[in-house]
Amino acid sequence: MSSFDYDLFVIGAGSGGVRAGRIAARYGARVAVAEEYRVGGTCVIRGCVPKKLFVYASKFAEEFEDAVGFGWTSEKVSFDWATLIENKDKEIDRLNKAYIRNLEAAGAELILERAVVEGPNTVLLASGRKVTARYVLVATGAAPFVPRHLPGHDLAITSNEAFHLDRLPSRICIVGGGYIAIEFAGIFSGLGVETVLIYRGEQILRGFDDDIREHLAGEMKKKGIELRTRSDIASIERSGTGVRVTLNDGAAFGAGQIMFATGRIPNVTGLGLDKAGVEMTPHMAVKVNAYSQSNVPSIYAVGDVTNRVNLTPVAIREGHAFADTVFGGKDVKVDHSLIPTAVFSQPEIGTIGLTETEARQGFKAVDIYKTSFRPMKHTLSGRDERTLMKLVVDGDSDRVLGCHICGPDAGEMAQLLGIAVRLGAKKSDFDATMAVHPTASEELVTLREKWVAGK
Ligand code: NDP
Repeated sequence: MSSFDYDLFVIGAGSGGVRAGRIAARYGARVAVAEEYRVGGTCVIRGCVPKKLFVYASKFAEEFEDAVGFGWTSEKVSFDWATLIENKDKEIDRLNKAYIRNLEAAGAELILERAVVEGPNTVLLASGRKVTARYVLVATGAAPFVPRHLPGHDLAITSNEAFHLDRLPSRICIVGGGYIAIEFAGIFSGLGVETVLIYRGEQILRGFDDDIREHLAGEMKKKGIELRTRSDIASIERSGTGVRVTLNDGAAFGAGQIMFATGRIPNVTGLGLDKAGVEMTPHMAVKVNAYSQSNVPSIYAVGDVTNRVNLTPVAIREGHAFADTVFGGKDVKVDHSLIPTAVFSQPEIGTIGLTETEARQGFKAVDIYKTSFRPMKHTLSGRDERTLMKLVVDGDSDRVLGCHICGPDAGEMAQLLGIAVRLGAKKSDFDATMAVHPTASEELVTLREKWVAGK
């Protein structure tokens, strides 16, 4: 019998921590999982899940408009924010309970209080109880970063608060050009809020394929979103029930709310990792090896707190791999390459593999195939929206290096393209695949002409 209170103590009941705790418990480990807020973590409580529900809600405005071209009349439609919030909260409660049930069914003990690290094998609970564990897994996630040097920053909300607003503002200013800023710009705009997006760089979604970035920016503008690139906030002041925002070029305007979506930082403050001698990265994330192990052999970390690839499925995979390796006698490392991803922008982005720019840096000959077309639905709806699809191919081996889509259901397509690209599919394999007609994705297997710049 081990002299430790537990074999595994997990700090944080989010996607990574819960998966690790459940799998370790199934292997027979004595597991405790501590959570200071709500079981489910960012994804379930204030991230992916409520965000996607909001995206659905925000799309109905266009659906009602589009329906007219198909013979429907849609007069007197109205939207009630309070109903959306209430129903979203019910669903989050349901998932929260399901997570708790699953943990307990696996045999893990859930401790609903804050836990901090005291040493390599010791954890201190908020109640003052000290417990020992053979292994400690830090899975505390990340939290929104707010540029606190800005005058008036405390008047701004982040995505955390956006899920609980008492009412929708008539105008919102969103700061940032990443996943969260772009997704919320689409949500608010779709729900009828006048939306201004302030981004400091040249083009939104740095790191994504340039054609996709440009295409999405154009589509967002068509929907009435005001995109102000190469622009930054200088100060924020209270004004009436809202705020007055001043930009660094001197321009100023009013808004009901201002929201920072300026990245996220690992949740490590006050966690005691320094006491245990855990090494951190320059970005204050827990530094781990390929097995998610820190420099202190008994302390591991998974998910956003390690700032590797900050996506839910990655945290889950890391948590599972940790449990398989440490408690299941297997040797499992997570492969962080070729991760398909979606941005639930409007229209949506789905992507896997290298961007054109990345491919040109690593490969001698790069062939590009791309197409832009009006989705079939809009031939009758009359909506001026286009889809962009792009394949990045190694001209020497014919291997597909990257696929990038901006259009309806792009996320669903990226999931399946991810399999093909992982398997090393060649362009000729795409060509040999029969089309599913009439779909948008059939374009991916019928692209024959190499794209030539300036042609
Ligand atoms: P991102 O890192 O994606 O984007 C942060 C944005 O804020 C960038 O545009 C960045 O600009 C800008 N920024 C950073 N600091 C400042 C500053 N001081 N002043 C002005 N602008 C600033 O972070 P998000 O918060 O959007 O999302 C966090 C992570 O969560 C994502 O990276 C993603 O991994 C995950 N996520 C995934 C989703 C999905 O899978 N659909 C959805 C939502 C989140 P610059 O480009 O110049 O650095």
